[in-house]
Amino acid sequence: MRFCAHCGVKLANDNPKCPLCDMDTEKIDDEFSLDYPYIKSRFTRGLLIRLISFMAVVFASASFMIDHLVPTGSPWALITIAAIVYVWISAMNLLRHTPNPASIALCQLFCIGGLVFFIDFFTGFYRWSVNFVIPFLIIGAAIATTLMIAIRPMKYRAFTIYQFVIAALGVLSVLLWVFGWSEIEWPVVTAAGVSILCFLAMLVFSYRRTQHELKKRFHV
Ligand SMILES: [Zn+2]
Repeated sequence: MRFCAHCGVKLANDNPKCPLCDMDTEKIDDEFSLDYPYIKSRFTRGLLIRLISFMAVVFASASFMIDHLVPTGSPWALITIAAIVYVWISAMNLLRHTPNPASIALCQLFCIGGLVFFIDFFTGFYRWSVNFVIPFLIIGAAIATTLMIAIRPMKYRAFTIYQFVIAALGVLSVLLWVFGWSEIEWPVVTAAGVSILCFLAMLVFSYRRTQHELKKRFHV
């Protein structure tokens, strides 16, 4: 705690100058409180990123080596490495400076979609990933982003572009069925329908803001 002899006030912080008269203050004890909350430095986050990256490389190399030394003929090492890549991308996405929940939803859509497709492809390709998981991930992401906009309309601008990308993915998912990758039509059609409806709901309820945001993003 500090004391200003001129004003006769005690200061809770550690300022060498008095905020009232700008005269020098004297230290009366070692206790003081900070004016602003203490924010941990980025170093911790940077360290965490390096640690996760290092662990990912270690585990991926270990899986590769074990598979090489003890061949089993099963694709477990590839799947493990794919899962490690998924965890690593998710961690990097979450540890970004200002993680946007819609960007996390979209990142998860891509990463989980990629991971399940990879696992499906290397385990006989029974098409469960393209038939069900990917369309339902699109539906989930579209509904989640709509809820985010409904809950936090002030953050609306940050969500617009993600809602648009999800709707585009929903429409593109129909191609999975058109080109015969997916054998079941209704999930992809539902994904396209739900994601377009979510996008339209956003347009209808905040037409002007969406129009402005899309114009800005696409420079039209
Ligand atoms: Zn003073």
